[in-house]
Formats: sequence, structure tokens, C-alpha cells
Amino acid sequence: MTDILQQDIQYLPGVGPQRKKMLGEELGIMTYGDLLQNYPYKHVDRSRLYSIRELTGDMPFVQVKGHILSFETFKMSARKERVVAHFTDGSGKVMDLTWFNGGKYAKQNYTIGKEYIIFGRPNVYNGRINVTHPDIDLADKLELSAMGMQPYYNTTEKMKKAGLNSRAIERLVKTLLEVLKEPLPETLPDFITQKLYLVSRDEALRKIHYPQNTKELERARVRLKFEELFYVQLNILRYASDQRRKYRGYVFSKVGDHFNDFYHNNLPFSLTEAQKRVIREIRKDMGSGRQMNRLLQGDVGSGKTLVALMSMLIALDNGYQACIMAPTEILAEQHLQTIMDFLKGMDIRVALLTGIVKGKKRQEILDGLLDGTVQILVGTHAVIEDTVQFAHLGMVVVDEQHRFGVAQRAKLWSKSQNPPHVLVMTATPIPRTLAMTLYGDLDVSVIDELPPGRKPIVTQHVFDRSLPSLYDSIRNQIHQGRQVYIVFPLIEESEKIDLKNLEEGYEVLKQVFPEFHLSKVHGKMKPADKEAEMQKFVSGETQILVATTVIEVGVNVPNASVMVILEAQRFGLSQLHQLRGRVGRGADQSYCILVTGYKLAEDTKKRIDIMCETNDGFRIAEADLKLRGPGDLEGTQQSGMAFDLKIADIARDGQLVQIARDEAQAIIDDDPTCESPRYDLLWKHLRELRKTNINWGVIS
Ligand code: ADP
Ligand code: MG
Repeated sequence: MTDILQQDIQYLPGVGPQRKKMLGEELGIMTYGDLLQNYPYKHVDRSRLYSIRELTGDMPFVQVKGHILSFETFKMSARKERVVAHFTDGSGKVMDLTWFNGGKYAKQNYTIGKEYIIFGRPNVYNGRINVTHPDIDLADKLELSAMGMQPYYNTTEKMKKAGLNSRAIERLVKTLLEVLKEPLPETLPDFITQKLYLVSRDEALRKIHYPQNTKELERARVRLKFEELFYVQLNILRYASDQRRKYRGYVFSKVGDHFNDFYHNNLPFSLTEAQKRVIREIRKDMGSGRQMNRLLQGDVGSGKTLVALMSMLIALDNGYQACIMAPTEILAEQHLQTIMDFLKGMDIRVALLTGIVKGKKRQEILDGLLDGTVQILVGTHAVIEDTVQFAHLGMVVVDEQHRFGVAQRAKLWSKSQNPPHVLVMTATPIPRTLAMTLYGDLDVSVIDELPPGRKPIVTQHVFDRSLPSLYDSIRNQIHQGRQVYIVFPLIEESEKIDLKNLEEGYEVLKQVFPEFHLSKVHGKMKPADKEAEMQKFVSGETQILVATTVIEVGVNVPNASVMVILEAQRFGLSQLHQLRGRVGRGADQSYCILVTGYKLAEDTKKRIDIMCETNDGFRIAEADLKLRGPGDLEGTQQSGMAFDLKIADIARDGQLVQIARDEAQAIIDDDPTCESPRYDLLWKHLRELRKTNINWGVIS
């Protein structure tokens, strides 16, 4: 029975080789099962007939039974004509049906006086009710009671041209459901469907296409969403449990000289309670004999780097090397700097490896890694290349995890005999439901406290016509000894124009602030120049840094207290939040100024409002998820796991994600090796899914 769902779509009556090709290319439908799981995006109630008298211009789709009285043709241009059919339901009322295209076909195909059911969205034209391009069926062919809710399917322009519109797909689905006479096999055990009051899979898969009413539709959707989320969770948790059993973690039993030296002699401030707690959690993991896989969430400026460094020192104390990986060169360089500063006077060899480290220097580092003399490696993606080999890598930190996927993380594991302990850090907090799905195999630590003395950043929205008074405030701040960032948008597609904007803007700003010194950095500069310009700002030689988003992550200048973001409408929420995180690092009151034009799209307004309202990264992340949907969030494309979701929506179905997670966890706890016959059904189906779903294979 499972096999019939694997059946080639070509053999479904009404398909054939040509449509098979079209369905495959346009919608990825290859089998009966694919068609069955090509869910409609909406339904329209077709159980009710309206009389023309009831119709108004602002109704959704309606249907009317009646007959055509006459056709009328209007010339619109030499080639184009508009065809109108006058249609009555016998009540004495007449409405119009209009065709701008295909009118000729309509005149030939529909017969005056014959009984039809027309279907469409009514509007009012010339004082009469009108339906443009209606669906028309012979009345005696349509069984209304059986029609219920009519499904609507996504199609493409190409498909429509070939006659494969939503109606055509609907017919194919109808045929398919008739072919699938026997009940479709269940994929959830009874104890779950009963406990959660879920309808059977057979019922759900039929009703998702043809429900009798909205309630049936809803029940079908819940069942299918749950199933989808449940198997994603089961797969992640199975994977985590597998890893745990398969790999021993290195046991870092002691805290030694490096850690203690640093703690007592080098640490310039005391740790926050949250930092202490997280370091305890990490130490416990690393000493447990189990490989650590921990996600560290902490808002911008919460002091994650320090936690990472202290964890790496524990690895060193136990005779292992450590590595920290950042998403960009600048950030890697900055990490190197920070770490070197922290470790000043200590005898620890730290090296930087990025794509631009080449030749002899690179070879030296590679050698040092192999003979174990390089103890801490700081780098970008470059460190996951195969040529980078360690003597004994014991711990890996991945900063800004949301830019790395599961597959990339997995690659790190091949770099040592046992997999190293892994700490992934993100400053863009990930909403819980998303974290559970994306990084569900990770334990989570949270730094929920900022270092003391920080004042919340004040965020304001300013229209660009008030720039002059903004400049005055900036001047004022600088006179008080502060420094200022001014950020221009630089978005890849329009890089050239943006760069010009930045250059011109820089010249203008130089004239606006003749009494100050300005630095300028952007991604197209030579690294050495960039470094030099940054350095001038860091040392206080320049007071204003004009920059693109290259400063988005990591840059740390505590004396900078104003962040001005120009054309703020062009930035996403998480980007804005990251940029804002560059200020508020010292003890002074900091400001973030979002500058936009006067006219704003609805979404932009929402983004700006949220920014002005809160500094809480978690709230911002939730809002971002709602506004953009998970597929657009940074990193989710590469995450390669959860985003093949066909029907569930992580942003909206948060509660179901949690329920699915709990159910899956209970099963894994009960049967960690995934072989109990009690759950045979589940393991079998999971294997099927993993075979057919390429992305799911990635994490095996
Ligand atoms: P993020 O979590 O965004 O990576 P960083 O690690 O860059 O934050 O830390 C931000 C700033 O706070 C740095 O200048 C860092 O030295 C400082 N910092 C970190 N921990 C503390 C602390 N416990 N007390 C005071 N300052 C701290
Ligand atoms: Mg950081």
C-alpha cells in the first residue's frame, strides 16, 4: 500500500508524459504521494448558491445558478475585444459576465439558455453586478452538496499556459483520491493520535483537499502539521542521541594554570552572574565524558567572547587545542585582537587563519596546528577546509552560529579522533521554537544579563529632513568626548551605487564636521587600509566612523555612544539590532538614531517601531520571525533540516512545535537506541523520510 504512493505520476489517468514533465519541473511532483502532499493554499466554500439579488461588490467568491440571455462584444482596440454575457438566475435580475481574454472561446462554448453554475468574485461595473473571467460548469454536472469547499492550488505561469491551472490540478487530485481506494497507512501510533485527538492520516490527507467545512479542514491541517513537526523533532533527537552514544567526549577533568592565571591576574573585571553560571554549565559538560554540544545565546554586548575564551583555556589546561570560528574576516581579526589583549603576558600561542592568510605564513600556522604548538586558532570558514589539521583539537567555538548550518558544524567533527566539544554562540537570539527546530540537537545556555553599569540604549526614529538638528546633537556628543558611528546601507545587488553613496556621503559629512576627524571603512577596501582606518577610530584619533555594515558584528569601541543608521528602512531587524549593539558598551548614555525618508512601507514602520520600543534581542527576534517567516532568516537556508516544511509554520505554530518536541523526546527517552518494536511504525517511517528527503540525510 505504501508503494502506490511511490507510483510514477505519469500513470495517473489524466497525466501522461507531457504533464508529468510539467508537474515535475514546475512543482516537483513526481509521484502519487507528491501530488497528494501538494496541499491547497486556500479553499472556497462552494456548498452555497447565491441569488443575484444578494450580491454586492465586496464579497469573496460566490456562485450563481442561471442561464445566459445574450452575448455582447465591445471593441477595445484593433485586436482586442471585450465579451460580455448577460446572465440571469430567473429572478428577473441580470448580471454580467466579462471576458477580456478568451471571449471568443466563451461565445463558442457556452450556449444561450442552458443551465450553468458560474463562479467568481463579484464587482460592480456600470451599476451592474459583474464577474470577470468566471468559472463555468454545466449545472447538472456539478453536484453541489459534494463540492463543499473547493481547493485552490499554486500553479505557475508556464503551467497555466499549458492548461494546468488550479482546476486541472484539482481534477487530478480528485482522480488520485478515487484511485487510492484503500485507507492510506497510518504514520503515527494510536497512543499519540488518541492523546492529542488527531484525525487519522487517511482522513487528513483526503480532507486537506476536500473538507466539507472549515472545521474539517482545520482538523486535517493540525494533524498534518503535527506529523510534520513531530518527525522533524524525532529526527533531530534521534541524531543527538546517536551522537551521544557513538562518540565519547574528551574528559576535561581539571581546571589548571591557564584558566587560574587568567582568572586571577588578567581578568580586568568580575564576571557577571550569568557568565559564571554559563561557564559552570560548560565545565560540567566538558568533564562529563559526553561530547558537549551547547548553544550559547546572549544579547549583543553580554560578554560571550570572554566565556568562549575561558572555556578554551580549560581545553588548553587539559592538553588540547581550541579553535574559534567567526563569520567574517573582520570579526575574526577582532577576536584575535581581543583574545591577545586578554591573554597579555601569558605564554599561549594564538594564531589567525582566514582566507587571506596565504603562502609561508599559512604554512607556518598549519605546521603549528599539526605539531600542537598553536594552542588557540582564530579563523573564519577557512578553518573547516580539509587542509587544516590539528594535533589534538579539543574544543571548537562557533561565533554567530546562525550563519553556519548543521552540516558545516558536523564537518568540524572530522578534525579530531573524538569529536571536539562544541560551543556555538549567537548574538541574534533565536526564538525558542526556531531554536528547537534548527538547533534541536543542542543544549542551550543563556546569558540574560549585561555587564554592570550599562545604560539601556535610547533609540529614536528621525526623518531625513531633520538631519541638520541631528548633526547638532552629534556635535554635542563629540564635544563631550564621545565617538559616533554613521552607517550607510550596502546591500550586495546595488553595491556600486551604495558605495558611491557612501563616498559622497563621506565628503558631505567632512564638510558638515570640519572640526572633527573622520574614518571610513567598507568591504571593498584592502584589509590593511581597513585595519588602519578602524585603528584610528579605536584609538580615538578620529571621532566619526563612516561605515557600511562591515561593522555589524563584533566591533568593540566602548567610547562610541552614538550609532546613526541612514536609510534604516533598508536594513532587516536583526541587522539593526546588531548595529545598535556596537554602542552602549561603555558607561555613558548611548543613542541609536534610525534615519528614514518620510514615506514608509507598513513593514518598515513596524520594524522601526519595535526597535524604538525595546532593546530586548529575544523580542526583536520573535518579531523578526513573524514579519519575515523562518525561511528568510539568516542561516536557515543552509540549516538544511527544518525548512522543507510543507504545511507547518514555525513562526505561527510555535505551540505545536513544543508539543511535537515533547512527544518526540518522550519516545527517545523511552527507546534511545531506536529499535524497540513498540515504536516500529515510527522508526520505519522515519527511515522512509530520511531516504526520500535529501536535507534530512545531511545530518546523519
Ligand atoms: P558579545 O556577547 O556581543 O560578543 P562581547 O564579548 O564583545 O559581547 O563583550 C562586550 C564588551 O563587554 C567587551 O568590551 C567585553 O570586554 C566587556 N565585558 C564582558 N564581560 C564583562 C564583565 N563581566 N564586566 C564588564 N565588562 C565585560
Ligand atoms: Mg561577539
